[in-house]
Amino acid sequence: MISVSDALNTLFDLVAPLEVETVPLRAAAGRVLAEPVSANRDQPPFAASAMDGYAMKAAEVERDAMFKVIGESAAGHGFEGRVGPGQAVRIFTGAPVPDGADFVVIQEDTSVTGSLLTITDHPGPGHNIRAKGGDFQIGTTVDAPRVLTPADVALLAAMNIAEVPVRRRPTVALISTGDELVMPGESPGPDQIIASNTFGLDAMLAAAGAESRILPIARDTESSLRMALDLAQNADLIVTIGGASVGDHDLVAGVTEGLGMSRAFYKVAMRPGKPLMAGTLGRSAMVGLPGNPVSAMVCGHVFLLPMLRVMQGLPAMDHQPATANLAHELPANGPRTHYMRARLSGGDLHVFDDQDSARLTLLSEANALAIRPPHDPSRSKGEPLTYIVI
Ligand code: AMP
Ligand code: MG
Repeated sequence: MISVSDALNTLFDLVAPLEVETVPLRAAAGRVLAEPVSANRDQPPFAASAMDGYAMKAAEVERDAMFKVIGESAAGHGFEGRVGPGQAVRIFTGAPVPDGADFVVIQEDTSVTGSLLTITDHPGPGHNIRAKGGDFQIGTTVDAPRVLTPADVALLAAMNIAEVPVRRRPTVALISTGDELVMPGESPGPDQIIASNTFGLDAMLAAAGAESRILPIARDTESSLRMALDLAQNADLIVTIGGASVGDHDLVAGVTEGLGMSRAFYKVAMRPGKPLMAGTLGRSAMVGLPGNPVSAMVCGHVFLLPMLRVMQGLPAMDHQPATANLAHELPANGPRTHYMRARLSGGDLHVFDDQDSARLTLLSEANALAIRPPHDPSRSKGEPLTYIVI
C-alpha cells in the first residue's frame, strides 16, 4: 500500500494540462482561463460623473454660489463645449464630465430657476467624478490560470473581450461494475440495488469543470467490462467503480491489464477507499475506485478533483486544508489516513460516530471530511483538526 500523497503524485503524472480553446464570453463562466488577458481600453474611458447633478469648476464650488447652466451631458451623449467660469452643465450618472469642469454638485444640493443654478447646501469634499481608467486601464491584466467567476465574466465583458482562451474541459467516462446494479428509475430485482456512485461522481466532476459521461453498467463478466472500457476509450479519464478488490468477481485489474494498462499503483493506505488502482489505458488515464458508495465519493474528492485541476491547468491543490476545532474528543487513528464524515457548524467540527462506508445518508449529512493522518493520536475536544469541505 502507498500513502495518499504518493498516490496523488503518481496520479498527477498520469495527466497533463489539456489544450487551450477559445469560447465565447457567455460560455466562459466556470471555465479555467488559460492565458492572461488584458484590457485594450480604459474603464471608464473618460472622466465620468458618479451622480446626477451639475458639473462645474471645483474652485468655484461653495454654498450660495450661482452658475449659468449652459447645456447637458447625459450617459451616451456628452456635452461638446467647455465649462467656463461661472458656468455649469447639467450632468447624469455615467456621463462624460465636460472639459473645464472637475466637480459635480449633486442635484439635492442645488436649486434651479430657468438656467440659473444655486448651490443650496454645503457640498461634501468628494468631487463625484470617476477618473478615466479608475477601474482598469489599457494593459490591466486578468491573470491565469483561474476559474472564471460571474464577476470575472463581467470584468472581461467590460474589457471588451468577447472570445476567451480557456482549457478544454476534461472528458471523463464513468463505468459502474456489478451484476447487482440497475440504473435509477429501473426496477431492481430482489438481489439488486441502484447504481448510485456514477451519479454522485458525475455531479461532482461536472461541477469541477469536467464533461462526464455515465456508460452502461458493466456486468461481472470480462466481456461486459471490456465492452464498457471500449466505449470509454476516447475519454481523457476513465473511472471504473467497484470490482477493484480481490474477490472472485473483481475483474477490473485483470481486464485492464489484459488491455495493456500500465499500472501505476494499486491500493492506497486510506479509509474509506483502500482498493484503488490507477494507470494508463491507451491515451486515457484510468482510475479504478472502490465500489462502496462513500468510498467512491471520498476518492472522488481526494483524487479525482485534484486530477481535474491539473488537467485544467490549475495548481493541483486549491489551498491548504482548513482547520477547525473539534466539538468532542476522538480516539486514536489506525495506520491509514482516515477521511471522516463530519459536520462543520458554528465553527466547530462534529465528527460522526458512524463511519460505515456504505452509508450515503451520512455522507449527505456531512459538509466536511475530517482528515486523520496515519497513527494520529487521540484528540481532545477543542483541538484543531484539518478538514476538506465537501
Ligand atoms: P465491489 O468493489 O464491486 O465489491 O463493490 C463493493 C460494494 O459497493 C458492493 O456492496 C457493491 O454492491 C457496491 N457498489 C459497487 N458499485 C456500486 C455503484 N456504482 N453504486 C452503488 N453501489 C455500488
Ligand atoms: Mg462488484
